[in-house]
Parts: sequence; structure tokens; C-alpha cells
Amino acid sequence: MGPLRIIILAVLVYIGYRLIAANLKKSDDSKTPGEPGKITDILVEDPVCGKLVPKQQAHQLNGEDETHYFCSRACHDKFVSAQGEDE
Ligand SMILES: [Zn+2]
Repeated sequence: MGPLRIIILAVLVYIGYRLIAANLKKSDDSKTPGEPGKITDILVEDPVCGKLVPKQQAHQLNGEDETHYFCSRACHDKFVSAQGEDE
């Protein structure tokens, strides 16, 4: 009984591995067609509350030297009004 169970287990692990490998390959192809490994969602730090926000969802403020990213409109407005006070 012992060796047979090990063989069955090995076959199951092999089938599971093949299924996972096939799924990974499939999702990679659909996500990044022609451009493997390209990062499209970079996390940026909100300078007001310190939260990390995906760049594509962040509220942008184009400053003179750099672009700032915020988690919400509220943080964006807070940053703008704080800059106004400095000047
Ligand atoms: Zn924020």
C-alpha cells in the first residue's frame, strides 16, 4: 500500500503543477501582450498622508519641478492650500 500511495500522490502533484503552470502562462499572455515584465502599476507616496497609491489611480498635481501624487482629492487640496500658505 505504501509505495502505491506515494505514486498516486506524485501523479496528483504533477497534474496540479501542470495546471498551475498552464494558468500562469495564460494569464501572463493576456496581461502583457508582447511586453513581458512591463510594470504598469507603480506605487507612489502621497506626501500629505503618506499612503502608497497606485500611480494610475492617483490624483496628480504637476508642479514646476516634479509631479505629486495623492490618494484623494482631499489630500490634493490640502497640499495645494499648504503650498499657498508658504508663499
Ligand atoms: Zn492621502
